[in-house]
Amino acid sequence: MKKVLLPSGEAVSALGMGTWCMGETPAQRAQDVATLRLGLDLGCTLIDTAEMYGEGRAETLVGEAIQGRRDEAFLVTKVYPHNASRAGTVAACERSLRRLQTDRIDLYLLHWRGTVPLAETMAAFAALQKAGKIRHYGVSNLDLSDMQELWSVPGGRGVQANQLLYNLTRRGIERDLLPWMRERGMPVMAYSPIEQGRLLHTPGLTGFARRHGMLPAQIALAWLLARDGVIAIPKTGRPERLKENLAAADITLSAAQLEELDTLFRPPRGPVALEMI
Ligand code: NAP
Repeated sequence: MKKVLLPSGEAVSALGMGTWCMGETPAQRAQDVATLRLGLDLGCTLIDTAEMYGEGRAETLVGEAIQGRRDEAFLVTKVYPHNASRAGTVAACERSLRRLQTDRIDLYLLHWRGTVPLAETMAAFAALQKAGKIRHYGVSNLDLSDMQELWSVPGGRGVQANQLLYNLTRRGIERDLLPWMRERGMPVMAYSPIEQGRLLHTPGLTGFARRHGMLPAQIALAWLLARDGVIAIPKTGRPERLKENLAAADITLSAAQLEELDTLFRPPRGPVALEMI
């Protein structure tokens, strides 16, 4: 499995597993747990979740999936912006730790920017890190202006990643945010990498897949993995799809194929407001 370096120097798997909507359908629960455990077996060790997903149910499911294998997983979870005050972040983290049945979170993210000053959230992250409850911290859905502001507050330069909507049809961040992050060695964690499944049915991608004898999901993921400092976190609760997605790590798109994808899915020509799902 390809690895991506965090600014701290720690290497994490370039393909991780998303968990949005997991834990919400009782009939699907056992298969979701089994899929996450299969991912660990196959070296896909980064698991992304959030207190928001199913109001804690996804974290609880992840806690079950990592039972007895905590050390194999790199756990990412997120605090709601309305909980991201100095005391609120610490309390939210304690709740997440209980649901995840662990004593530490590997990467704790601010889910998106709310009204709490960034400096306050960073102070809470620093306290949690000092207490050993989180190993690293980062942000999500922060645009360039937010990142520049973050850079000026105490602890802001310690962020290890910015989790952003990024896929073939959502390339706006390539204009200015991504280059800014690259200059600082900060990875982007690409969420909704297959546009929640919608990307797989676009004529551009299905045509490309037919011409080159590849599967659409694998092309979308291989395109992300071809880029420096990008971690992709597709979600699936189906073991066969997980294997299909992980096989993207073995695909190297040629320069000509990447060029063809650029003509099918154009990079931004001007500034694009940060998109979120
Ligand atoms: P996604 O990963 O782009 O797509 C997930 C959907 O695609 C699911 O419906 C899944 O269905 C289906 N799928 C997965 N692999 C497939 C394949 N090989 N062939 C066909 N269908 C496939 O969307 P996402 O869940 O929005 O994003 C991924 C993760 O990013 C989330 O789960 C979450 O952890 C994170 N996220 C973060 C934010 C944020 O604000 N920070 C926002 C959105 C998402 P099955 O499960 O039935 O296979």
